[in-house]
Amino acid sequence: MSQGSGRGVLNLVSVGPGLAEFILPQAVQALRASEVIVGYELYLKWIQPWICGKEIHSPPLTRERERARLAIEAARLGRRVALVSSGDIGIYAMASLAFEEMREDDTFEVAVIPGVTAANACASLLGAPLSHDFATLSLSDLMCPWEWIEQRARHIGAADLACVLYNVQSQARSDGVYRVLAILQEHKSPDTLCGVVRNAYRPGGIASVHRLAELPAQTFDMLTTIVIGNRFTRRRREWIYTPRGYHAWSEGAAPASPQLPSRAIWVFSGTRDGNEVARRLAAEGHPVVVSTATDYGGEVARLSCQGVAVWSGRQGTEPRRQALERGAARLILDATHPHAAQISAQLMELSRRLGIPYLRFERPSLLDPRKAIVCDDAADAARRAIGLGRRIFLATGSKDLETFVRAPGAQRCEWFVRLTPDPQRLSRAIALGIARERILAMQGPFPAELNRVLWRSQRIECVVTKDSGGTGGYAEKQSAADELGIPLLVIRRPHVAYPRQVADVEEAVREAAQLLSARTAPGAGSMS
Ligand code: SAH
Repeated sequence: MSQGSGRGVLNLVSVGPGLAEFILPQAVQALRASEVIVGYELYLKWIQPWICGKEIHSPPLTRERERARLAIEAARLGRRVALVSSGDIGIYAMASLAFEEMREDDTFEVAVIPGVTAANACASLLGAPLSHDFATLSLSDLMCPWEWIEQRARHIGAADLACVLYNVQSQARSDGVYRVLAILQEHKSPDTLCGVVRNAYRPGGIASVHRLAELPAQTFDMLTTIVIGNRFTRRRREWIYTPRGYHAWSEGAAPASPQLPSRAIWVFSGTRDGNEVARRLAAEGHPVVVSTATDYGGEVARLSCQGVAVWSGRQGTEPRRQALERGAARLILDATHPHAAQISAQLMELSRRLGIPYLRFERPSLLDPRKAIVCDDAADAARRAIGLGRRIFLATGSKDLETFVRAPGAQRCEWFVRLTPDPQRLSRAIALGIARERILAMQGPFPAELNRVLWRSQRIECVVTKDSGGTGGYAEKQSAADELGIPLLVIRRPHVAYPRQVADVEEAVREAAQLLSARTAPGAGSMS
């Protein structure tokens, strides 16, 4: 690079979301005054009129540090340089890299010119969703460990801050956004108003408004920003806005749950045997509420447990706590899936906090370690499966898919997946790169015959499942695998210390009755 004539200048120039009119006059001035322009090609297009004929350097998008060094080298040589970033150069962009590369004894002049960042560009297309406190969160783990991103999402959710998600989804990082949305939904109401904006103020730009619960069914990309409101965010015409202030935190709380009976036994279900327990308890004359994590689980419960109130959908801890408290629940009967350790932990915690007795119902394990290969967790199962065959059938549900398809050596395998027919799960599997001809979306249970025909015709070399017990169709998988002579890998149940546990429906009904009478007996203290 040639030597400049005077004192070097490093302009850190923001060029906004895309539209030339959104570039500040100061940025234009700096571009005009610069002899060397460094930036990613796409952004340079927007500023073409001001940089024509200048010395231009545009290393690829991934080589950010190289871009920063190039600009600094030129400024050290006494040249006038513009390092260019889209949006605001100080927000998830090049400015901090330039400062990192700069030395204390550098003498060139520095100017930072701000710009319209994706957060406020996108917010403006939705209305005014960021009128009160908000946070931004980048979902790219190139610059920080993924656990931190999840940890921050938890804090944002717990504070019910409005937030803006940057770097939402890339092909290599397709599952993270769903994990973050699930974390936010643990605290925020499923009805929280949100916006999805792609290519704001660029050709083909699009903005749409949704409820938080609707987002996991969608796929996104790196040209997209998600804006998530708080409990006060409201709709007006086609816009959303968050009021400037609020007086009572509870005023903005999620809409009250549907009319649910008070002093009921709450059965956390979504499994066939959970529904059976609920039906039996209702038949004995107890008021019963069945709570399921999915709307589909709710539909099934409504059909199979007539006369029982159903509360469905991912509610999150706080709405769940409020509902149990408001309804003066008498018993938490946890009949969730044997592998749903997280929700069980949450229910035990709520039982302690609210002083409501807790009873775990868990179908017995049918796992025979002589017939199956027992794995500690999904990562262990992935490692072993990849060592055993190329055509691998996953009957493990959708939650752990990423662990399998991202495991070392996974690219060599062909993954066959069986899922419940739920649009969210399907789009997640597709986003993870599972070929559509290898996805079967059907509600179980599956007879052994069907497993056999399916696995034989797909030339499956190894099957992975969970220790789901009788109603989970475990025996039918074991017998089909035995007949075909293919290995069955089984992820063992997580170790959870339940305070009280029963394994069959009759026992559950008996134990529940006992817990209720112990509680109402004179002098009975609060149970924990
Ligand atoms: N410095 C930039 C952000 C860089 S990170 C700024 O201040 O805006 C890149 C991310 O920003 C993208 O993945 C996307 O989430 C968001 N983004 C940038 N421009 C956008 C636009 N025009 N429309 C929607 N999202 C955008």
